[in-house]
Amino acid sequence: MACVSFPYDAPVSQTLFDRASLVTPGGVNSPVRAFRAVGGTPRFMVSGSGPYLTDADGREYVDLVCSWGPMILGHSHPEVIAAVQEAVARGTSFGTPGEGEVALAEEIVARIEPVEQVRLVSSGTEATMSAIRLARGFTGRAKVVKFAGCYHGHVDALLAAAGSGVATFGLPDTPGVTGAQAGDTIVLPYNDLAAVREAFAAHPGEIACVITEASPGNMGVVPPLDGFNAGLKELCAANGALYISDEVMTGFRTSKAGWFGVDGVRPDLMTFGKVMGGGFPAAAFGGRADVMAHLAPAGPVYQAGTLSGNPVATAAGLAQLRLLDDAAYAKVDAVSAEIRGLVGEALAKEGVAHTVQAASNMFSVFFTDRPVRNYEDAKQQEAFRFTAFFHSLLSQGVYLPPSAFESWFVSTAHDEQAVERIAAALPAAARAASEATA
Ligand code: PLP
Repeated sequence: MACVSFPYDAPVSQTLFDRASLVTPGGVNSPVRAFRAVGGTPRFMVSGSGPYLTDADGREYVDLVCSWGPMILGHSHPEVIAAVQEAVARGTSFGTPGEGEVALAEEIVARIEPVEQVRLVSSGTEATMSAIRLARGFTGRAKVVKFAGCYHGHVDALLAAAGSGVATFGLPDTPGVTGAQAGDTIVLPYNDLAAVREAFAAHPGEIACVITEASPGNMGVVPPLDGFNAGLKELCAANGALYISDEVMTGFRTSKAGWFGVDGVRPDLMTFGKVMGGGFPAAAFGGRADVMAHLAPAGPVYQAGTLSGNPVATAAGLAQLRLLDDAAYAKVDAVSAEIRGLVGEALAKEGVAHTVQAASNMFSVFFTDRPVRNYEDAKQQEAFRFTAFFHSLLSQGVYLPPSAFESWFVSTAHDEQAVERIAAALPAAARAASEATA
């Protein structure tokens, strides 16, 4: 941990964190929220409006996390809130099919051409877990290829990112995942097609699927090199494996049709979450109809969920998606480019080695002057500089993801006033980054 002084305290958040820590492991319900990578007191937020969050101490922040992606229209968008209120008034869960689920599924199928059929679930983790089960059930094979630095939720078989060696067999990353659960996972370096080719050659007829983030955002933003996704698709097709594109983060964010709308590479299965739930727990997996036909009750591969297709979540998701037209994406892309430019300028002015990487409107800053193409590259950055940068911005009312290995997110609500607040905070943050020591 870098030696950083926290420019101000947050007494109400601290009290809440103390209370939380007594009743919840680490005081949070998802680890990165605890600020362990950057130190200091996690801010407990009480409300959000447009591009702003307000914490329990009454401080307002320009939000560059957007709930880790979902809030692409900003917080408390009036039309999304109205749709939710209208749905809530009719009841919160029926445990039966409902029209909202059909409408959301139709919207997904209409936007994303490779998705012929889709199943709704409640989290991105459920989506990737189910897609992998389906791929194994469909192919009758056991092994799964994933890439180091790609996160697909806390699925047992995917919590393996061991080693960067070619065809390294997955070792569990966490206690509680057994060797058997991770043993069929092959972890390869990202952006390395030769490694994938070798894995297929080493395991003929054994690999059920290759799962990849469509454009990774969980090691910071590391877009696929030209031809990487197309190469994966080709290798999968040539070897009888399914190509699963995880669009939980990129889906409905990087374009109207997610990353598929950017690179046009047609996956066999895709997974979605975040934006499609409008801030509620809704996620999905879908793809080729002949593969989806293997899913219960149409086929033998079991998958289910008490709250799947929940009427309130589907109403929120549908309202959000219907507002996301070409103009909305143009706006998010433009504000993302503007903020990226400002960050780069401020760091350059202070002589801080950095690389800003983007995948349409997703972006992040690596504290290294070399391009980052995979997880090993990402780990080479001077993360201690991020810690100083983060705390300076936090103290000035700009809320970044509390880790150097996460994407930053913006929304249609990030207007000139929000951008000006960021611009005003950046010089001191860049200076803090330049003065930071390991
Ligand atoms: N896949 C990707 C690419 C993600 O970024 C995430 C979450 O950040 C997940 C899957 C898991 O989604 P959830 O947190 O909804 O379980």
